[in-house]
Amino acid sequence: MEKTSQASGLQSLFPDKSSLSHPDFSHLGEEEKLIAKTIDMFVKDQVLPNNKNLEAHDYQTSKELFAAAGELGLLGVEVPEAFDGLEMSKKTSGLVAEKMGYGASFSVAFNIHSGVGTLPYVYFGTEVQKKRYLPKLASGEWVGAYALTEPNAGSDALAASTTAKIDETTGNWIINGEKQWITNAHIANVYVVFAKTEAGITAFIVEREFPGVSIGAEEKKLGIKGSSTATLILDDVKVGPQQVLGAVGKGHHIALNILNLARLKLAFANIGASKQALETAVKYAKERKQFNKALTAFPMIQEKLADMAISIYGAACSAYYTASVLDQLDGSSTEEQLIGSLARYAMDCSINKVYASETLHDCVDETLQIHGGYGYMQDYDVERQYRDARINRLFEGTNEINRLTIAKSFLKRYHQTEQAVVNPADIHGGRKDQFIQFSTYLLQVMMKALPVEKKENMDEKQMYLRVLSDVVKEIYIMKAAYLDAEQGGRGHCFQATESRCNL
Ligand SMILES: Cc1cc2nc3c(=O)[nH]c(=O)nc-3n(C[C@H](O)[C@H](O)[C@H](O)COP(=O)(O)OP(=O)(O)OC[C@H]3O[C@@H](n4cnc5c(N)ncnc54)[C@H](O)[C@@H]3O)c2cc1C
Repeated sequence: MEKTSQASGLQSLFPDKSSLSHPDFSHLGEEEKLIAKTIDMFVKDQVLPNNKNLEAHDYQTSKELFAAAGELGLLGVEVPEAFDGLEMSKKTSGLVAEKMGYGASFSVAFNIHSGVGTLPYVYFGTEVQKKRYLPKLASGEWVGAYALTEPNAGSDALAASTTAKIDETTGNWIINGEKQWITNAHIANVYVVFAKTEAGITAFIVEREFPGVSIGAEEKKLGIKGSSTATLILDDVKVGPQQVLGAVGKGHHIALNILNLARLKLAFANIGASKQALETAVKYAKERKQFNKALTAFPMIQEKLADMAISIYGAACSAYYTASVLDQLDGSSTEEQLIGSLARYAMDCSINKVYASETLHDCVDETLQIHGGYGYMQDYDVERQYRDARINRLFEGTNEINRLTIAKSFLKRYHQTEQAVVNPADIHGGRKDQFIQFSTYLLQVMMKALPVEKKENMDEKQMYLRVLSDVVKEIYIMKAAYLDAEQGGRGHCFQATESRCNL
């Protein structure tokens, strides 16, 4: 079995200072602070006042918001400069997603566009493809979408029945099938479509104007009503070989690895939405009086606010840590190397997705509770926040599927790592990280007891994998928060939860 070079065994699988060249991972520079401020103003002045129009599926408003975001440079944060982007770090792109997380449904449209709707070209496109699509996507002239799901291929995403058959005489591909619940479906100009070929799943670039492409009716949804969700119908759509993205038969690598990055991006958006919920809760609790006191005077309400702040802090530390680690990945030259690098961080991305989406779930639930009956009324924004939050545990892989990814990726890395680990004799009250050490020690004990050594019949072992994923997730978050706190909590994670919530 190949061993990693890190010597600290089990502990090396969790956030670690040595994996960062600049350990102050949550600190924002002047440029990042300016970006944050710009987005705050964009969301406040342009996005939120238009939310009712977006919810009425006024596609023109969506397109204008995309153009405005493009003008501000927000759509090209991860696009190379050579293709009119800003080529900034994953940490900065995380900050952009976090700030945009305050933008209700537009945040979803934005994230899909700048994540799965753009990154496949950045990482897997040919020069010609990058030149054709990236400048348009970075400017907001075009909107992007990503079409993987089908009626019978949800969590089992690679069980696609959409087909692409090659016409041997012309070299063109003919695509047939239906892709379900595609975000941005009605406003997108270009879709990354996954279809079954004889060589396996392949990714294709399909433009809205190609003959045979049509869009079904808008879905009627519980929340995020301002984002377009509809079926992409592909009826004998003919595309040339230049529309194949990456290698024929290797589309599953693109689908899954781009999803890893999308999960981290979603975590950032959920952190923003959680902070928005906390701010909503604090504002209301300070204003509302019962028994002649503001709600903030009651310890049970204070406890709710404190729990929200703790979870948000953990989620933010973890997401900024992971983004900073991804920023330090070696520039991978070949498709194979890139896929390997991204796949190595599948566990980290899934941890962030699960933790941040569940933090958001708890935050909107408690914010509604603090509003009492008023929270149930549409006059109060928390009603929308509560409905909009629900999707996050479902898309970009359900949290069940992400928990399986955490456990399985952890097991793989665990078996590749020197297992000499935490010595119980080293855990003592004087250590600042004694709880993390003790938790890691318990995980070590657990690993000996769990019957997950062999890969066979993993479905039957799901309950063990579920427990393992939660233990691994909690230690990961604790260590990320510890690293930030070690720097005196000077970072953005701490400041941002504090700044607008003065009690
Ligand atoms: C509003 C919205 C927007 C979306 N946008 C897009 C998009 O832009 N592009 C795109 O391609 N897709 C999109 N999707 C699809 C989304 O990614 C899928 O809905 C999601 O992956 C889950 O698939 P499913 O809904 O078919 O659920 P299913 O796979 O049928 O799962 C149902 C339940 O069973 C659980 N389950 C399934 N398999 C297992 C297992 N092996 N072990 C344990 N539990 C399991 C799931 O966790 C879930 O709780 C969107 C969906 C929605 C609702």
